[in-house]
Amino acid sequence: MPGRKLAEYEAKRDFKRTPEPGAKVARAERKALRFVVQEHHARRLHWDLRLEKDGVGVSWAVPKGIPPDPKKNHLAVHVEDHPLEYFKFAGEIPKGEYGGGTVTIWDAGTYETVKWTEREVMVEFHGERLTGKYVLFQTRGNDWMIHRMDPPQDPDRKPMPQRIG
Ligand code: MN
Repeated sequence: MPGRKLAEYEAKRDFKRTPEPGAKVARAERKALRFVVQEHHARRLHWDLRLEKDGVGVSWAVPKGIPPDPKKNHLAVHVEDHPLEYFKFAGEIPKGEYGGGTVTIWDAGTYETVKWTEREVMVEFHGERLTGKYVLFQTRGNDWMIHRMDPPQDPDRKPMPQRIG
């Protein structure tokens, strides 16, 4: 957190009097972190959730997809970090290659970090299909669970219809 690291710098200055920059970056100026969920028709269908963090995509493979309801947690297998460029990837991975099969982008958007520790990642998604607060928590080794913290998303939620005429 820049606020904490720059506490000493801040304590020495009155930013109402000095033209020097303060340590706090306005919320709107902060670059939003991106997420993507890729639907991956590999040997086994799964969804890959990737969260932008420190220049890479921290990734989980979610066999049953992102749970829309807080009553049902889904397994999320922590996998290797992916390059950020991967967030835009959709296409065919050749048969016989690692992850061979079709990848499509199920949803993409931004997220806010509520909490991020070694074993627990709490975020709020701002996507087209995926919105709301979720927590991922480690159960054993690479096995994590993903849990929706907000009430269920409206199953009838659809994009605004395009009016003609
Ligand atoms: Mn995958």
